[in-house]
Amino acid sequence: MKRYFRLVFILFFGLTLQSWGFYTHRIINQHASYSLPLEMSPFFKRYAYEIQKKSVQADQRVYVDPDEGARHYIHLDNHNNIHDSLIIPWYKLDKHSLQRDLLKQGIIPWQIDLTYRKLVNAFSQKNSAKIIQHASDLGHYMADAHVPLHTSSNYNGQQTNQHGIHALWETRLPEMFIPSYNLIVGKPEYTSDVLHFAWETVRASHALLDSVFYLEWQTSQQIAAYRKRSYIVKNYLLQLDYSDEFCRHYHQAMQGMLERRIKASIRATASLWYSAWIDAGQPMMNELTAGANKINKDWRFSLFIQKGHEDWY
Ligand SMILES: [Zn+2]
Repeated sequence: MKRYFRLVFILFFGLTLQSWGFYTHRIINQHASYSLPLEMSPFFKRYAYEIQKKSVQADQRVYVDPDEGARHYIHLDNHNNIHDSLIIPWYKLDKHSLQRDLLKQGIIPWQIDLTYRKLVNAFSQKNSAKIIQHASDLGHYMADAHVPLHTSSNYNGQQTNQHGIHALWETRLPEMFIPSYNLIVGKPEYTSDVLHFAWETVRASHALLDSVFYLEWQTSQQIAAYRKRSYIVKNYLLQLDYSDEFCRHYHQAMQGMLERRIKASIRATASLWYSAWIDAGQPMMNELTAGANKINKDWRFSLFIQKGHEDWY
C-alpha cells in the first residue's frame, strides 16, 4: 500500500514538474532543429520527440541533485566586476574557494561551456543517446541564459515587491503569446568561443532587467489592483495569477522583447549544436540514426533517477 502511495506521489509530482516552463523549452529545442543544415537535420528530425521531451530534464534534476540549481542562473548584480580572468573554463578556475564562491552566485556561463564540450565529445563518439542528451541540455541552459530574471538575485521580484514576475515572464506570457510569434530564425552561425558567447548572452539578458521590472511596475500603476490578478485554470486547478488583461498590457509595453529573447534562444541553440558538430569534425549523421527504440526506453526510465551527469561525458 505504501508503495502505491509513493508511486501516485511520484506520478503527480512528476506531472507537476513537467508543466513548469516545459512549453517554452520544448518550443525552443523544436525550432532550433528546424534551422539546422541538411547534413544534421535528418537526425534531429528523427529524434525530435526525445530532444523536446528532454529539454526540461535539467529543471527536473534540480529536485534530485543539490548541485544542479546553480547551473541555471548567474546573479550578475552580486559580482563586483566580471574580469577577464573569470572568463575561462570552469576546470581552469583551480582555486577551490573561488569555485565555491562562484557557485553561490550561479554558474550558467560555465555550464553552457561544459555542456557544449560534452556535446562535441558525443558527436565525436557518434553516440546517439549522448548527442540527444547533451543537445537537449544545451538548449535548456542556453534558453535560461536568455531570460533576464536568470541573471539577478532579484529573480522573482522579491526585493522590489514584484513577487511572481519570474513565472509571469518565463511561463505565463510565453504560453499566451508564443502561438502568435514568427519563430523562423534563419541559418545557425559557427561560434568558435562558446564561453565568451555564453557571457555575452547573460550580459545582454542582464541589460534588459531594468525594463523587465520597470514595465511591470508601470503596468501595475495603470491597471486597477483588483484587475491585476484573476483566477485562471492551470493543470486542471483554479489558481490566482496575473490576469489576461494585465499580461496583454505588460506584453505590449515590452514591445516585442519576449519574442526577441525567444528567437535569440532558438538561434543560439541551433548555432551551438551546429558549432559542436563542426568542432567534432562534421561526422556523418546518417550513421548515427540507429537505436531509436533503445533511446525512447532509456529516457523514460531514467527521468527521475539521474543524479549528476559527469558519467555522460
Ligand atoms: Zn532551467
